[in-house]
Amino acid sequence: MHEQLIKLIKKAQAPLTSRKVGCILITKENKLYEGYNVEKEERILHAEDIAVSKARKDKEDFKIKEIHLMANGKPENVKRAIPCENCSKILQPHSQEDFKAVFYFFDDSKKTYSLNLSNIINAYTSFNEIPLISDSKRFDKYFKGYLTEIDQKFILEFVNQIKSMCNEIYLTGSACKRGSPKPLLAKEIMGKSYLDIDLITLFSNKNKEEVNKIIKKSILKSLNNIGFSFKELFEKDEISYILEEDPTSKDSEGFLFRKFYWAKGMQLTISPPDYKKNLLMPSSIDMSAGINLKETITKKYLDKKWLVRLL
Ligand SMILES: [Zn+2]
Repeated sequence: MHEQLIKLIKKAQAPLTSRKVGCILITKENKLYEGYNVEKEERILHAEDIAVSKARKDKEDFKIKEIHLMANGKPENVKRAIPCENCSKILQPHSQEDFKAVFYFFDDSKKTYSLNLSNIINAYTSFNEIPLISDSKRFDKYFKGYLTEIDQKFILEFVNQIKSMCNEIYLTGSACKRGSPKPLLAKEIMGKSYLDIDLITLFSNKNKEEVNKIIKKSILKSLNNIGFSFKELFEKDEISYILEEDPTSKDSEGFLFRKFYWAKGMQLTISPPDYKKNLLMPSSIDMSAGINLKETITKKYLDKKWLVRLL
């Protein structure tokens, strides 16, 4: 399978993104259908879409048993091989049972990871409404087995520390159980389904320096209160808002800044396979601060309600 996928990657055409993906569908009848992505100015075709179209020509209502996928390049590119929202919806009607997606590494023929299609689809699904889980009992119940115990403790402690100085707190991104399935592979690799903790804090205070101080102090104090003796908290100096969708939309009055905060040893990036050693550490904090939610959160996340309210 690995060799066959390498051949497909070599056939893939990705002049626009240089992200190449190859896939092999296996149907219930054990028929194999191949696909690779083709990027043209006028149209981008994904590997899964091509493979499904081929299979459909043979049998309109075919059922998929497995899909095998590979992305080109470094091991961490494995996340690029996860079916996108659109492809997941193309695959879903052909999923009789909850089929497995198996991921391969370009330069390692021995290792594979796998996910169920339902988990991938679930990660793209919107919440019906924004859940409010401000009390700790509900929080524990809601995130049990999802957030690591340390991150769970940290978040609760952080809410406690900062609540008198801020108006609203939200947990968003993969740590709130939503926000694309990329981190699901992290669960396979390092045992948890998210990479960092995306928090949103809303203030009446418009002074960026003051708000930054409040946040930094609260994070550090929370870490110390849950048993880590960090003396210093690092932050990215410049205000960052680099997002694919629309970086300019954050240049508004209701948005203060976005920053990463971490202490030495806290997790920052996903780079398998030696990631596991940091498992007992708290995750780094990706914090967005603002005056109102609409101008502080990524638009897509708000539209899909990929967030949980903590205060
Ligand atoms: Zn796709």
